[in-house]
Amino acid sequence: MRLHVANHPLITHKISILRDKTTPSPVFRQLVEELVTLLAYEATRDVAVEKVKVETPITTTEGLKLSKPRPLIVPILRAGLGMLEGMTKLLPSAEVGFLGIKRNEETLEPYTYAERLPDELNGRQVYIVDPMLATGGTLIDSLDYVFRRGAKDATCVCLLGAPEGVENVKAHLAKTWPEKDVQIVLGAMDEKLNEVGYIVPGLGDAGDRLYGTAD
Ligand code: URA
Repeated sequence: MRLHVANHPLITHKISILRDKTTPSPVFRQLVEELVTLLAYEATRDVAVEKVKVETPITTTEGLKLSKPRPLIVPILRAGLGMLEGMTKLLPSAEVGFLGIKRNEETLEPYTYAERLPDELNGRQVYIVDPMLATGGTLIDSLDYVFRRGAKDATCVCLLGAPEGVENVKAHLAKTWPEKDVQIVLGAMDEKLNEVGYIVPGLGDAGDRLYGTAD
């Protein structure tokens, strides 16, 4: 598993505004979209491409285009929806699948309540987007889903991560999917998880900050 933590002042600037508890939902949503576009730029560094011939007004040259099959973006409902627009801006030809995974607030164990993915993901590059990599449980479930359907590799784009969650994902992948290439791209690595599974210092509940408190 490869981990990339963005170390860029513009990203840290935007994350600092997200952390502020007085930042209202409309500003929060706008900033998440901007942040995702910046993170997606890094996350798509290994996107599959092939050579193409291009006729410029002056001469013929070689360029690149995205290869088939198209990449698949999978936002994890509900908070991952806030990151979808930023991803599709950068990868407009990507297909989108959905996974609804929620954690039980007592056991912190994730459970899947919705799934809309292509049956077959053979050879696909998958981009999983979920703002908070906390215990890692949701990400582990999502990775299991896409790899069981044949995804070639997976890149996870998260705004914040906790070291415990990153370690859990890493250990699960080493045990279960050692042959898969997985990259995690984080806007920032925070300090720790608290006793109820929230990231510290974090930004609170990302779904609530994006959409209000409806379940
Ligand atoms: N999910 C969130 O929305 N926030 C956290 O801090 C942890 C999980």
